[in-house]
Amino acid sequence: LDPEEFRNHGHKLIDFIADYYSNITNYPVRSQAQPGELRRLLPVQAPISPEPIDSILHDINSFILPGLTHWLSPFHFAYFPSSASTAAFLGDLLCSGLNVIPFTWLSSPSATELESIVMDWLAKALALPSSFLFSSGTGGGVLQGTTCEAILCTMLAAREKTLILTGHHRAFDLVVYSSDQAHSSFQKAAKIAGILPSNFRSLSTSSSTFFSFSPSLLRQTISEDLSSGLIPFFICATVGTTSSTAVDPIKELSLIAAEFNLWLHVDSAYAGSAAICPEFRHYFDGVDGASSLSLNAHKWLLTNLDCCCLWVKDQAALTSALSTDPEFLKNDASDSKDKNVVDYKDWQVALSRRFRAMKLWFVLRSHGISGIQSVIRGHVEMAMKFEGMVADDRRFEVVVPRTFAMVCFRLLAPEGWPEEVNELNRRLLEGLNKSGRVCMSHAVVGGVYVIRFAIGATLTEQHHVDLAWRMVRRHADDLLGNVAG
Ligand code: PLP
Repeated sequence: LDPEEFRNHGHKLIDFIADYYSNITNYPVRSQAQPGELRRLLPVQAPISPEPIDSILHDINSFILPGLTHWLSPFHFAYFPSSASTAAFLGDLLCSGLNVIPFTWLSSPSATELESIVMDWLAKALALPSSFLFSSGTGGGVLQGTTCEAILCTMLAAREKTLILTGHHRAFDLVVYSSDQAHSSFQKAAKIAGILPSNFRSLSTSSSTFFSFSPSLLRQTISEDLSSGLIPFFICATVGTTSSTAVDPIKELSLIAAEFNLWLHVDSAYAGSAAICPEFRHYFDGVDGASSLSLNAHKWLLTNLDCCCLWVKDQAALTSALSTDPEFLKNDASDSKDKNVVDYKDWQVALSRRFRAMKLWFVLRSHGISGIQSVIRGHVEMAMKFEGMVADDRRFEVVVPRTFAMVCFRLLAPEGWPEEVNELNRRLLEGLNKSGRVCMSHAVVGGVYVIRFAIGATLTEQHHVDLAWRMVRRHADDLLGNVAG
């Protein structure tokens, strides 16, 4: 590492990225690349001799950028967009530049402590129950890469706790529960945790309750499983489901969890960040009855990937399931009887970890709570306007009421329309995405194919939303006109 060379290359790279932001709308939002295109463009092996930074940057411009889908484009409304910020990028740059690895407290004390502090700061900003804070003496938070890892870790903690409690040695009888709207990462976590597919309960939801988890169905299913000699142990509820941002009734679910002594995890990967605004906190009512909660700061908290925030009430449950104690990591701080340091290696799957707290600290300090609130409110306001525009056009419908900053809508088939309405919307979405001007994604809720219009990309402003809506209408005109003609 030559500091002067780094300074020089670093300046070039920052300029390169800044230029990219300035020109981002010149690229098709969804890449028009064909499979295998990059392989045809790049050499078949790595260079033998070093190459200059300018030639690398040239190739990024020529070969890589055209093949990307531009998540930071203001016209990116697909999936859940990423609301990353300059502050987060700089924090992440520092994380890479310092390259410390805080697996134990000793391996980088201030990195570990900053993570605990930032997790307490954020928990307070979101008005989470004090039982999730380190100051409670039993709870606390950790930064992981993704929600899938967070759910896996909590499931392993719950599994361990349950097996010890019930005296069982085999995990074959353990059962997990969610609604059929839970993200597939829950299913993946259960697979990894060794839950048998036949013991994975994905309980039906319906449009009449806007696709939220039914407490009565949960209670009935748990009772049936108990009668069959199975061991219910874990419930995953969601605030802000991926398909339609449905909100599960946390309070009622937490009462069932308490009654049957089950672990309740709240997955608020997308919508958790909204709790920074008091007006959205009612969606989290009852969260004090949950055992854990996670959110992806890289979705809606102005932070870049990866940054999943996980809080647990019972840190001992997590560490007893995940801790290891190899000789080469032994140190006085970790081994002391009244251990008062956090060794984050025992809160996650892997040993090594990034200094993710740095970017979150940058975000919280650079934007302040009020700055983050106004970004989130701005997105919700734009989504409200978009919802209004859809509702005002009788050819369209809003399929489920909006809760946060995503609108699920579809084009209605006119009288006598020859094809299935789902197919019509599939073609509408494909036409929009192929245009390269906007990018949206879809979901199927209750058998209905919906176009998801999710606002949250950092550069999106009202005029981008207005233009996107004009494009939707124009494409609908073309589609309906074409077939009618
Ligand atoms: N849970 C919900 C509700 C989500 O919306 C998503 C992603 O969109 C995930 C989990 C997956 O998160 P990750 O990719 O961090 O595992």
